[in-house]
Amino acid sequence: MLENTPHKKLSIRDIYEARARITGIARRTPLVLTHALSRETGASIYLKLEHLQEIGAFKVRGAANKILQLSAEQRQRGVTTFSTGNHGLAVAYVANRLGIPAVICISQRVPQAKVARIGRYQAQLAIVGQSQDEAAEHCRTLQQEQGLTLIEPFDDPFVIAGQGTIALEMIEDLPRLDKVIIPLSGGGLLSGIALALKSLDPQIKVIGVSMERAAVMYESLKAGKPLLLPEAETLADSLLGGIGLNNQYTFQLTQELVDDLYLVSEEEIAKGMFYMLEQHRMIVEGASATCIAAIRQHNIVQPGEQVACIISGCNVDLSVVTTIAQRYAAN
Ligand SMILES: *Cc1c(COP(=O)(O)O)cnc(C)c1O
Repeated sequence: MLENTPHKKLSIRDIYEARARITGIARRTPLVLTHALSRETGASIYLKLEHLQEIGAFKVRGAANKILQLSAEQRQRGVTTFSTGNHGLAVAYVANRLGIPAVICISQRVPQAKVARIGRYQAQLAIVGQSQDEAAEHCRTLQQEQGLTLIEPFDDPFVIAGQGTIALEMIEDLPRLDKVIIPLSGGGLLSGIALALKSLDPQIKVIGVSMERAAVMYESLKAGKPLLLPEAETLADSLLGGIGLNNQYTFQLTQELVDDLYLVSEEEIAKGMFYMLEQHRMIVEGASATCIAAIRQHNIVQPGEQVACIISGCNVDLSVVTTIAQRYAAN
């Protein structure tokens, strides 16, 4: 099926290659049954704990797969990226592990918890503009003027294949998987996982979840082409950012591979974060809580199904967690 698409260049082989390449930098994370959510829904729901990666998010997989295949000359010149946070953190971490210079361009909106963590990996930080798109522009200037290699946050075949390694681990741990629920922003995570799962078993359903506010991929798919939307304040800040008007891979891959898309409200995201805190004593960021919210409030799983839900990251300011805990613990 995939051989007939324009994505000949990206296949399950690339994802197996990615896994071999990134072993030793990205962790193999656990897939654990959540009794609480399973009881609530009648399905067997498993959480893929990607927030247990060293950087607190899955993005280390894609960044490692991209950076590890650069030439010696490219490595010497260094790498750069723009990001709402976790991808920047991933590039900083991988570059630091490999002794490669890195400049991370981020917007002023990026939460303090993420900024502090990027500093830990000794990357140079460039804080510019109010949106990811402005940070991206600065990054492209560095690429042209200083010859740095730009590590795209999602629209790159190596990044997509790196994120797809999550699927290989899940299918090994849970060979009979019916459905996977994935937070969706630029679509690198969903494209990689969907490509791997559908290659191995086309029956597996892939569901994407975004926040109601500034759901760029959702609106773009509806319009049939990539759109630009203004950013908005959201608890799921890791899902902010455009998909690029000149999107090369993830728009089409998402269009072809996703079975259903859902949007969740800020209130539902906050409740999802609280649910993970109360039931599992886990701090997860809003982006991951979108999936919990979709399962609990939008009836997206059926009794008897075997479902995996991607817990994509945990980089959230503690003040946000405290506020949510206080708001819902009283009731
Ligand atoms: C980047 C990110 C996502 C979404 O990944 P895309 O490839 O941009 O769709 C989801 N959750 C977290 C925590 C992220 O950092």
